[in-house]
Amino acid sequence: MSAETNPAAAPLAVPSYLDQAPEVSARFARIKQRPVILEVTELSKSFSSPNRPPTVALDRVSFQVHRRELMCVIGPSGCGKSTLARLVAGLEPMTGGEMLLDGKPIHGPGPDRGMVFQSYTLFPWLTVLKNVMFGLEVGGGMSHAEAEQDARMWLEVVGLTKFAQAYPHQLSGGMKQRAAIARALANRPRMLLMDEPLGALDAQTRCQMQSYLLQIWRQVDITILFITHDLDEAVYLSDRILILDAHPGRVREVMEVAVPRPRSAEQFLSPAFIAARHHLEELIHPRAAQAADKLPVFRMTVVGDEVE
Ligand code: ADP
Repeated sequence: MSAETNPAAAPLAVPSYLDQAPEVSARFARIKQRPVILEVTELSKSFSSPNRPPTVALDRVSFQVHRRELMCVIGPSGCGKSTLARLVAGLEPMTGGEMLLDGKPIHGPGPDRGMVFQSYTLFPWLTVLKNVMFGLEVGGGMSHAEAEQDARMWLEVVGLTKFAQAYPHQLSGGMKQRAAIARALANRPRMLLMDEPLGALDAQTRCQMQSYLLQIWRQVDITILFITHDLDEAVYLSDRILILDAHPGRVREVMEVAVPRPRSAEQFLSPAFIAARHHLEELIHPRAAQAADKLPVFRMTVVGDEVE
């Protein structure tokens, strides 16, 4: 049956991801007026190993993130997303280019950047409260009482007040990540770097956490660079999305997400959301590649016993 005789097979008309409602354009104009917090220019990173040509993980990557912007980084596996997060965190040396945070070169880790990883990184032997207090007392030079007061405030921001005395193993995965966010934010970083922080959570908890993250971001003066490979997550969270190509990792596009804020789960079915999602899909999973992934057909059932 052709698309003409079978309406279900006709391609859906998808609106353009470039169409922006007036309030969305006005918001982007305001974002561009804000100071640049992170400026990455021609950033390159190669990994060399003996007897093999070097792997170019990132090749002359340039982009800027403005104050209180939430930018997601997306791209196929191996495009250098985690490498980018590690470079901005100062955990790896770059091979070329420049990274400025608040106009100052990044040369290593610093308290101006907080990290939240996919794997849970809370100290298992400390309560949630003490985990958040740790950096404040040890690195921040606060007294015990000051650190406790501050940490309790951050636990309230992330909705974990009732779990202050719990140990990490007593928390769900989503709560652990909220505690990790509280711990990172308590050190008052300029920027939060999140590398697939929700990747280990089940789908429902992940949706809840995305909503929590947006609520926290709205209340706190923080700029976020969020690594993900989940297209819906990128559209739901981002102001703009940095899309990388793989091998070598290069900037494919920096896309403005035309979905109005505040975001809600109902918007997943809105034309602007579908348009943005569809554009990402086209860039990251082009149809030709999908077709190439088709499996050869070996018939293992009797003719007539069809499931479709
Ligand atoms: P992504 O997070 O997008 O999946 P990565 O940043 O992990 O990508 O990796 C980008 C490329 O760099 C890949 O080809 C990967 O194999 C390579 N790479 C990453 N880390 C190392 C390393 N420590 N040594 C050698 N190659 C690495």
